[in-house]
Amino acid sequence: MGAGVTGTGTAWQLAKLGHSVLLADPSLATPIPDTPADRHLNGSTASLGVLMGHAFRRSSGRAWRLRQRSMALWPAWVEQLNHPESPLALETPLIQLAGSAEEAQRLNQLASARPGSGLQFIDNTRLQKADPAWPQVGHGAMLSERDGRIDPLRLLKALRRGLTEQNIACLATAVVELQRLNSGNRQRRWRIKTTDGTCEDVDRVVICSALGSNELLQNLGHQRPMAPVLGQVLELQLNNPPGQWTAWPAVLSCSGINLIPHGPNRLWIGATLEPGTTADPAAADTMKRLNDLAPTWLEEATLAEQWSGLRARPIERPAPLLEELEPGLLLASGHYRNGVLLTPATAEWVCEQIENAQMS
Ligand SMILES: Cc1cc2nc3c(=O)[nH]c(=O)nc-3n(C[C@H](O)[C@H](O)[C@H](O)COP(=O)(O)OP(=O)(O)OC[C@H]3O[C@@H](n4cnc5c(N)ncnc54)[C@H](O)[C@@H]3O)c2cc1C
Repeated sequence: MGAGVTGTGTAWQLAKLGHSVLLADPSLATPIPDTPADRHLNGSTASLGVLMGHAFRRSSGRAWRLRQRSMALWPAWVEQLNHPESPLALETPLIQLAGSAEEAQRLNQLASARPGSGLQFIDNTRLQKADPAWPQVGHGAMLSERDGRIDPLRLLKALRRGLTEQNIACLATAVVELQRLNSGNRQRRWRIKTTDGTCEDVDRVVICSALGSNELLQNLGHQRPMAPVLGQVLELQLNNPPGQWTAWPAVLSCSGINLIPHGPNRLWIGATLEPGTTADPAAADTMKRLNDLAPTWLEEATLAEQWSGLRARPIERPAPLLEELEPGLLLASGHYRNGVLLTPATAEWVCEQIENAQMS
């Protein structure tokens, strides 16, 4: 249930392992757009697609392991999904500007502690020579050679192609209810009811419905509440294109805001973090000014497009929610700020649960 990036990626992987998969989501009725649009208020279509797996402050724990696993799986995913009809590439590197002397010290230590991970600290004198001028924070930066981004709309288009290639059955409708079916001594089965009145009986259910997940769980007696956190993204037209862009990384991250070149003289800037579902114009304005660190060429840029989407943040639980709630009922949701990054590791986790259950 759910055909955002996590649900589509998981369905594709399950089908590749030989499972018969049915994917349900009303959004399957519409093709993936060429550019993000406001009407698509799910996480995946609004996303920036930043993959920040290696430049992560922790070096242990579940979040770290999931990031590492996803970064290891991404190259093979892109190789398999890349096709002339749905071209796909990993764009690298990512550069994170240090916001303070303390952060610079932390990033420097991180890069030194992980030799061979593609992390390198760059001191400020090198940054000052950048053309066009980068935001001048003044404390240096960390380069992560293997982090970067994947274009989320291209990824979704490639995954949709993968669904067709793997003969995955698609229901372009929402699921309104899940029911347990009693099947005597045999393994429990599940009935899914959709808005158009269709009923389908299945062996296992995987819920990847982000903010829609809890509603599906409630009538089964499970509670996994999530809060919406809105993100705004701006696409800017650079009116006085400065300098050579050859040294600009795939992603330049400054105070948590990402600057991403996107086509000739266009730049994506995002994303805001706004609790709730209503976009605040003031938050977008502060972001465009990069908290008053924007170089002149960025200040002079004009707004070409603007969109927003909702992230699903688990309440009182760490993101993401990867749980077997009862035999045959899997939850893979609540990815909050990292659903694109964590899609391959999420799909792998679901596949492992299903394969293990079949063997036991
Ligand atoms: C502005 C913005 C920028 C972001 N940038 C990044 C980034 O750079 N890197 C990164 O890794 N992540 C980023 N994220 C987060 C990322 O986009 C999300 O974590 C990810 O898209 C979640 O994917 P998903 O498939 O779980 O959910 P979604 O993409 O939200 O999809 C959930 C789907 O479930 C469907 N659904 C809901 N209820 C039902 C139901 N009852 N029956 C059937 N279907 C249902 C919905 O229609 C929807 O299509 C960003 C998010 C936003 C908003």
